[in-house]
Amino acid sequence: VIEQGQPEHSVVTTCAYCGVGCSFKAEMQGDRVVRMVPYKGGDANHGHSCVKGRFAFGYATHPDRLKTPMIRESIDQPWREVGWEEAIAFAAQRLKAIQAKYGRESIGGITSSRCTNEETYLVQKLVRAAFRNNNTDTCARVCHSPTGYGLKTTLGESAGTQTFDSVMQADVIVVIGANPTDAHPVFASQMRRRLRQGAELIVVDPRRIDLLKTPHHRGAQHLALRPGTNVAMINALAHVVMSEGLEDREFIAKRCDAAGYQAWREFILDPRHAPENVEAITGVPAEQVRRAARTYAQAPNGAIYYGLGVTEHSQGSSMVMGIANLAMATGNIGREGVGVNPLRGQNNVQGSCDMGSFPHELPGYQHVGNPAVRERFEAAWGVPIDDEPGLRIPNMFDAAVAGEFKALYVQGEDIAQSDPNTQHVEQALRSLECLIVQDIFLNETAKFAHVLLPGSSFLEKDGTFTNAERRINRVRKVMPPLAGKQDWEVTVDLANALGYPMHYDHPSQIMDEIAGLTPSFTGVSYARLDELGSIQWPCNEAYPKGMPTMHVEDFPIGLGQFAITDYVASDELSNRRFPLLLTTGRILSQYNVGAQTRRTHNQAWHDEDVLELHPADAELRGVRDGDWVGITSRAGQTVLRARISDRMPPGVVYTTFHHPGSGANVITTDSSDWATNCPEYKVTAVQVEKVSQP
Ligand code: SF4
Repeated sequence: VIEQGQPEHSVVTTCAYCGVGCSFKAEMQGDRVVRMVPYKGGDANHGHSCVKGRFAFGYATHPDRLKTPMIRESIDQPWREVGWEEAIAFAAQRLKAIQAKYGRESIGGITSSRCTNEETYLVQKLVRAAFRNNNTDTCARVCHSPTGYGLKTTLGESAGTQTFDSVMQADVIVVIGANPTDAHPVFASQMRRRLRQGAELIVVDPRRIDLLKTPHHRGAQHLALRPGTNVAMINALAHVVMSEGLEDREFIAKRCDAAGYQAWREFILDPRHAPENVEAITGVPAEQVRRAARTYAQAPNGAIYYGLGVTEHSQGSSMVMGIANLAMATGNIGREGVGVNPLRGQNNVQGSCDMGSFPHELPGYQHVGNPAVRERFEAAWGVPIDDEPGLRIPNMFDAAVAGEFKALYVQGEDIAQSDPNTQHVEQALRSLECLIVQDIFLNETAKFAHVLLPGSSFLEKDGTFTNAERRINRVRKVMPPLAGKQDWEVTVDLANALGYPMHYDHPSQIMDEIAGLTPSFTGVSYARLDELGSIQWPCNEAYPKGMPTMHVEDFPIGLGQFAITDYVASDELSNRRFPLLLTTGRILSQYNVGAQTRRTHNQAWHDEDVLELHPADAELRGVRDGDWVGITSRAGQTVLRARISDRMPPGVVYTTFHHPGSGANVITTDSSDWATNCPEYKVTAVQVEKVSQP
């Protein structure tokens, strides 16, 4: 039921779903949200919104919300409801006992891109200062960690280069491995406006996404490549640019490292990258690739937007660097209408990475191996900091199965449902002697927990989110936390119970601490955010109001660095037992593993995941629309209903991952990005066969 009534007052806050970061007015009667109205003053959305954001308040007051902390001695025992004090003391006592028995490195913490900057900052601080190790990671590990690595290596900063509004200056829009209409709907509408004004569209994706059907657009180029062949494709596009003399020599000479460029030039001009020689790998006719490369390179302004179809591959980092190579080679960096723009799936992917949630980096992407950096944090936090990177999420799972990792604090992340190879994850979670889960619902991960700490929704806390365009937006508390505490307060309590003193009266003080330790945030404060509405970092002495377009004069590393990005075939492509390639994506009305949207009106629009199957593949297997099909990979097996669709080419099948029963991650494998361990969700070799029932 949609709540109705006349609002008494309203509070401006930020949507907690996707990386667009729309601003909303929460219209209130007392502590009750009457409705969410898109805020016209929102710098990211200018008064627009989508069906997810409008109804998001539904999950915040859902009866399934956890309101009381719970503990249990072991996971086969029933839960016991306790007060906050007892739950925190129980958790702290277990963590201390485990560290005393197994060592300092035997525990760790994972935070979420759904949480605020201040919360993620505190979790990594808890791990580094109270646990006294670097075993901290974020769920960005499984989505955009290759963006962090790839953009930092080439352009010197782990972030997108533009504002969303910049797309209105683009003459060619290139969308790679993303489906903005479903995953970033408000920005997709802006893209469509630009397409209707005459910009050209190039889509690089196995699936025929909705953007290709933009009404009143003159037609788009679709490079429908085979999953897992992105790097071969980006190299072929760059090969055309260089072999046909379409590069921007002035930009390269002025802005890029000469030696690196020469090495890359030699590499990319090798005939093995010619579209004619890559055609057998990607399945895309050479002439289509040549045409797309010319369109992009010859446009006054070419802008690239990409999503998880780029990063969630065994060559995710190579592909991100390949995109940056192409943009630098054509001079499409450093002004409006161009750039390299990752579309972040969750509301605060950018922020959770900025806040030092990675095991090798402190806030602001400052490496733990740098003594000067460590010295600054040690002085502020009053403890020594390890100079060696800690465990990444998949390393934590492996170490747990091996009996070397014994306790985990997970804030706002359902690792049992969202990480690949569910069987392995569950085995790891079952091996832990203490799993502390802090969440708003009893999620799949909580089934393996010993301590359950109720979380607070975005409507119950103060803080900030940073969207895909580096824009820091305020999150404002509109109602009291249902369980009595905001998430940051719980982390503070846990630190204090462990003997590491933390004290903050308000999240603004946490942001002040972040600003004091992070060069790109020195000008950020709640007062400045209230004054300006939002800020795109870096915000410091040089850029007191933030920086909408990055890399205008130079790169943070001085000169742009071309990277060698050789194509290496995914293990999944050579898997002959499983002849089809499964890839995954999102749908408009649902969000990630669905924990939130399944508890709103959106559930009515999409209540199950299905397997999209090309008519030719269906006929070969005697499958009709609506039949149940078994899907088997080398990791596992699941059952879904079949939907016959020609949106995918023959040989490729597709599903979403919003419902726990379907278990898409039961069949995804352990393959991961060579640089960051980001899982290869987007390519899984499978067999599909008709089954009688699930
Ligand atoms: Fe905006 Fe994304 Fe929220 Fe939709 S889900 S309202 S596009 S932030």
